[in-house]
Amino acid sequence: MFMTAPTTNTHSAEAKSSFKPIVVSGIQPSGTLHLGNYFGAIRQHVELHASFESYFFIVNYHALTTLNDAAALRKYSLDVALDYLALGFDPSKSHLFLQSDVPQVTELSWIFYTITPVSQLEKGVSFKDKVAQGLTANAGLFNYPILQAADILVYGGSRVPVGADQKQNVEICRDLAIRFNDRFCPNDPVFPIPEPYILEDVAVVPGVDGRKMSKSYNNTIGIFDEGKELKKKVMSIVTDSTPLEEPKDPLTCNVFALIKLFASDSKREEVAAAYRAGGYGYGHAKNELLHLITEAFAESREKRHELAKRPNDVMDVLREGGKKGREQAEVFMRKVREVTGLITTY
Ligand code: ADP
Repeated sequence: MFMTAPTTNTHSAEAKSSFKPIVVSGIQPSGTLHLGNYFGAIRQHVELHASFESYFFIVNYHALTTLNDAAALRKYSLDVALDYLALGFDPSKSHLFLQSDVPQVTELSWIFYTITPVSQLEKGVSFKDKVAQGLTANAGLFNYPILQAADILVYGGSRVPVGADQKQNVEICRDLAIRFNDRFCPNDPVFPIPEPYILEDVAVVPGVDGRKMSKSYNNTIGIFDEGKELKKKVMSIVTDSTPLEEPKDPLTCNVFALIKLFASDSKREEVAAAYRAGGYGYGHAKNELLHLITEAFAESREKRHELAKRPNDVMDVLREGGKKGREQAEVFMRKVREVTGLITTY
């Protein structure tokens, strides 16, 4: 279920109704996609891509800000494509491609740099977080929100599905669209003013250590983990040490928090009642979770195995998506070059 911010307000660019709804979203290829990504983002991407004209791209330029390993970047990029296709992304409905297949995005970024106050980037939450974690603050990391804004606006994106944690980046993008339109084309705005699409009451999915599941904490369960690896991770989920026979509170348990995401209402009630009754240990709960995860992704896992045997087909999907991405980006870039006075001779 999605909560949509109002789509009209008094700003000139939004008052104009010539912009059609276009959904855009970038997916980081900087690690194996995990259950937090699935429930917080991918599930809604897969729902949205079938309902709106959508551009979903694998943000390999963004990944370079933290990942300098060509083999890993290639692998993660193709893994994301496999994951999305296996989880239900249908390339006949919308476009899936690699960010770097649309070089116009870096061209637009440069233009945006020239109208962005440094002070606005210094307040960036992701930048501040990464610096606090001790990561080297390269200029790419600092300018990350600008590339993100260019990613959205180069396709005329008007709706951006994001987790609540990324709302600030959509704000920067909105500011840039407004500033660009006001400065260069106030009477005939080039860009729509995008709106965030935020999943209603999205739960923070806990990792095996109880903190937010995140690849930075090394506490993830991969969507397509299976067999021994999956079992090992599920069995390592941190719980308290209440003995098996005693009653337990499901609401404070990390295992139950994950079970809740997968179980039907009746199953959830059944497990919660077993927790409260006592005689049901964390081992039982973990086995239940293992079963639920295995079942939930069984079909997608099968599809992923099949797709992995046909890498050329996956490349074809990305190639075709990239072609559509470049065509759409060029429509906007022609206008951008014209209103900014960048003469092109080709
Ligand atoms: P990570 O923290 O592993 O680096 P990302 O920041 O790449 O994950 O996550 C991409 C998106 O996936 C986020 O914007 C958010 O919507 C969703 N997401 C990631 N982790 C979680 C989580 N633990 N719970 C809910 N949603 C999450």
